[in-house]
Amino acid sequence: MEKKIIGIDLGGTTIKFAVLTERGEIQTKWSELTDITEEGSKIVPTIIRSINEHLEMYNLTPEHFHGIGMGSPGSIDLEKGTVVGAYNLNWKTVQHVKDEIEKGTGMPFVIDNDANVAALGEQWVGAGNNEPNVVFLTLGTGVGGGVIAEGNLLHGTAGAAGEVGHITVEPNGYDCTCGKKGCLETVASATGVVRLARDMADEFAGDSQLKSMIDDGELITSKDVFDLSQQGDRFALLVVDKVTFYLGLACGNIGNLLNPSTIVLGGGVSKAGEFLAERVRNYFEKFTYPTVRNSTKIRLAKLGNDAGVIGASSLVIENIVRSQS
Ligand SMILES: [Zn+2]
Repeated sequence: MEKKIIGIDLGGTTIKFAVLTERGEIQTKWSELTDITEEGSKIVPTIIRSINEHLEMYNLTPEHFHGIGMGSPGSIDLEKGTVVGAYNLNWKTVQHVKDEIEKGTGMPFVIDNDANVAALGEQWVGAGNNEPNVVFLTLGTGVGGGVIAEGNLLHGTAGAAGEVGHITVEPNGYDCTCGKKGCLETVASATGVVRLARDMADEFAGDSQLKSMIDDGELITSKDVFDLSQQGDRFALLVVDKVTFYLGLACGNIGNLLNPSTIVLGGGVSKAGEFLAERVRNYFEKFTYPTVRNSTKIRLAKLGNDAGVIGASSLVIENIVRSQS
């Protein structure tokens, strides 16, 4: 019988679980709420209890599985399987996640950063078509990403490879949470789009529903900006043009450096769909040289919320299954 894999996507509000095949097909999934009280000390016990309960429910034992893969926020020590500085989980000190979960479930466990894991998911069975050179950008509350080059997920010397959110796109731009100025995240995350719209509103004189909403003190979202621009709101279109310029610039630089087959755009902001992607492509073409322009494609993510659990299962394939064969 073909062994299965458990994939986990650990987030600040929910913990998503899935049982997957070796080809990354989800057979069943479920979730638990993330309880971050008491310094996040309830999170790992919840994961262990939930896995054991579901195995029992499905009449399965650890022998039916290759292992467990997980994507987590924070800084990950891949070898030790520890996490530190995951502030949305209240994990400030080092958490021995691998040791505890292996002991609690009796299965081998492998972990990586959540953005890297989502990148693996999209590269493997999503928009990346399982090609060896794929870069993933997630445009959510922040901007994260992951790089798969020549078939390998890149980590860099201190684990910070793929931090595309901190690519400088405006040298004297907005302050970023990282301490630097003008990071992509400050203008292309959901909050960044809103910030840009509020600032640009001061200088726009024409007729615009978006500008009226901002002037009236309404709390706008990045979805409002994209929805109104698709309806032809002239000011909203200017904001989208600026956001896609920055994204095209960052993607152009990524393309010139790595020449991936695909740069995948995912996360909440990418729900604007082809409307966003085609504008990013236009700028991307301006900022890439011909070979890259003609061979690197910009595509929308395909897996949505499943990218995390699918990518987590591919960690198990890469690190546990391959090393056994
Ligand atoms: Zn930054």
